[in-house]
Amino acid sequence: MPTPQGIQRVHDFLLQDQSTKLLPKERVRFCRRHRIDKYKPRTVMYNENRKKAHYGNVQICGSIWACPVCAKQITEKRRQELKTGLEKWKSSHEGAVYLLTLTFSHSKDQPLKFLLEGLRKAMKRFYETTKVQAIFKKLGIKYKIKGLEVTFGANGWHPHHHVLLLASHHDLLFKNYASELTELWIKACVKSGLNAPSMQHGLDLRNGYYAEQYVSKWGIEDEITKGNIKKGRNGSYSPFDLLQLSITEEIVHGRSAAKLFQEFAISMKGARQLEWGRGLRNFLEMAQEKSDQELAEETDKASITLTPVEDLIFHLLCKFQKRHEYLDAVQQDYENGCFGNGSAERLIQQIAQREIKELQNAY
Ligand SMILES: [Zn+2]
Repeated sequence: MPTPQGIQRVHDFLLQDQSTKLLPKERVRFCRRHRIDKYKPRTVMYNENRKKAHYGNVQICGSIWACPVCAKQITEKRRQELKTGLEKWKSSHEGAVYLLTLTFSHSKDQPLKFLLEGLRKAMKRFYETTKVQAIFKKLGIKYKIKGLEVTFGANGWHPHHHVLLLASHHDLLFKNYASELTELWIKACVKSGLNAPSMQHGLDLRNGYYAEQYVSKWGIEDEITKGNIKKGRNGSYSPFDLLQLSITEEIVHGRSAAKLFQEFAISMKGARQLEWGRGLRNFLEMAQEKSDQELAEETDKASITLTPVEDLIFHLLCKFQKRHEYLDAVQQDYENGCFGNGSAERLIQQIAQREIKELQNAY
């Protein structure tokens, strides 16, 4: 088991390399490696607004659950939208926002796929219950935004939903409905084949302050813990924590981190990270929702091409896991005005030397 002091979070490109290794049949293996146009070279591009370099003419996988590089981009864009949406709701409609968290009991022997299916059924049952609808009506709830999260802890997989409830008015007595809602949630879980959650932990309904905290933090949990993989509450790990721990073949709560990440990525395929209630975006006059793929592929109009990257060089950058270092080096050289004669060149010479050495050793 890793120590609580933690392990330094490695670069997303290295995590992506590891994901490719664990998921050799998934699209993540093409991401930021394979070319889009086979007749043109890959390039290093530079975004003048964000002051950041990235590769051009490379495929983007858009796998929110399996690709750490795409996940970060997609999630950050979603978070900005979520913030905007919530601000619009609160300012122009003077509405309230509640944060509803729905969890259930689970054990180590239950596969994630099974738990996700049970959770999906339980959520549907819960919302369709007449009594739940009646309570929501009293609270003035008009729309929902549903976020799906999964962690892994001592009691196995922990898939759960945080739901933002957008209400037309403030009800200071909203807490009074919590215990009735919890009972209804427990019933929905049991009927859906899940273990009954406890009255204490199954459902949590909080006011706007917590909703705001949630939104400001949403999706950047990994960012926040970027320095270290900390053991979260009750020793729970995020999926990308598991991915990183798999690099050093760690065992987490008695299971292989590598196997856990594989199970996670396969089980989550097609699941949505964030779902806006029907009609809400229209109501808030926000643009149509974009898919994971669209968000990951959004090209930066302000980007300029810094340099083409020859095939052989790119192959070596992949082989020696230096894709991210090369980007940083090109960026630095560009910003320092020593492009073509700086750290990027040195890096290429280094990896070329390594390759030559390896070839010599092979003979
Ligand atoms: Zn990707």
